[in-house]
Amino acid sequence: MSWQDALPTVRGRLLRDEPLAPFTWLRVGGPADVLFLPQDEADLADFLAALDTAVPVTLLGVGSNTLVRDGGVEGVVIRLGKAFATVEPRGGSRIFAGAAALDANLAREAAKAGIAGLEFYRGVPGSVGGALVMNAGCYGAETKDVLVEAYALDRAGRRLTLSNAELGYSYRKSARAAAEPLVFLGGLFEGRPDDPAAIMARMDEITARREQTQPIREKTGGSTFKNPPGQSSWKLIDEAGWRGKPFGGAMFSPLHANFLINTGEAAAADLEGLGEAVRADVHAKTGVELEWEIKRIGRPASA
Ligand SMILES: Cc1cc2nc3c(=O)[nH]c(=O)nc-3n(C[C@H](O)[C@H](O)[C@H](O)COP(=O)(O)OP(=O)(O)OC[C@H]3O[C@@H](n4cnc5c(N)ncnc54)[C@H](O)[C@@H]3O)c2cc1C
Repeated sequence: MSWQDALPTVRGRLLRDEPLAPFTWLRVGGPADVLFLPQDEADLADFLAALDTAVPVTLLGVGSNTLVRDGGVEGVVIRLGKAFATVEPRGGSRIFAGAAALDANLAREAAKAGIAGLEFYRGVPGSVGGALVMNAGCYGAETKDVLVEAYALDRAGRRLTLSNAELGYSYRKSARAAAEPLVFLGGLFEGRPDDPAAIMARMDEITARREQTQPIREKTGGSTFKNPPGQSSWKLIDEAGWRGKPFGGAMFSPLHANFLINTGEAAAADLEGLGEAVRADVHAKTGVELEWEIKRIGRPASA
């Protein structure tokens, strides 16, 4: 009997061979062996506790930083829904947000409650779960600056409360999340009091700036590579001649040279292949090793 025939009983939905491309911004890639959409936290915890520990588990937020390879994803992919998307002020400039809430929603609710400091989330098109893993941020602010603590389940379904320090944040990384498979349930954030209208005005500025400088209506994964210390990836890509150069159905955006875009019918292999070609070329020309910021998950098509 295969592991797929011995899945725990759930109250949510278990979908076999479910295409993942529609769940990602880049709109490429194959299916999940199994996609689990838990009903609520207890359903998720029970599932993790009962699932064979040999089965790999992968979390997907809203897929704004993920490239799913063409052969699909082995094991169980988990996507959190409405039951995990609560956003509510908790008093004293603190606000809770569930992992499935959009960052923009967290920013908006914080602004309405007169909590300043979270407006940068207006510029990040991901979910709170993705932000907790990626230490998402922009314009000089990041998750590390505003997070009090995060709530997660471990692979065995046990609930953990992790302080900001325990998450070991650095540039677009949590050392703790990289070391151990965690399912984030949400986070408690803290800002400072300010006038809601002034916060909203700052959020509007962020929206306008984004529209002008990033291809936010394209099929993209945001910044493809992390910025090497003291350097800008977009500049290295631009200077190596890759800005706007077509490569199958893939291209580094003419508007922002570090944004990889699917211009039409790209396969995941085209996008990843272009990224690798650019890494090799930039390395040959400058000696700089670009590091992927986009998470690439799954198997290549031939596997
Ligand atoms: C147009 C555009 C602009 C962007 N601009 C920025 C920016 O300014 N700053 C920035 O930081 N990022 C930016 N990004 C990248 C992206 O939005 C962030 O990395 C975001 O935090 C990813 O969230 P997500 O929900 O899309 O995560 P996904 O892409 O779905 O997943 C990213 C990682 O988080 C993990 N994950 C997601 N949810 C959970 C969970 N509940 N528990 C455990 N693990 C989880 C996934 O397994 C994966 O490893 C941009 C992307 C786009 C497309």
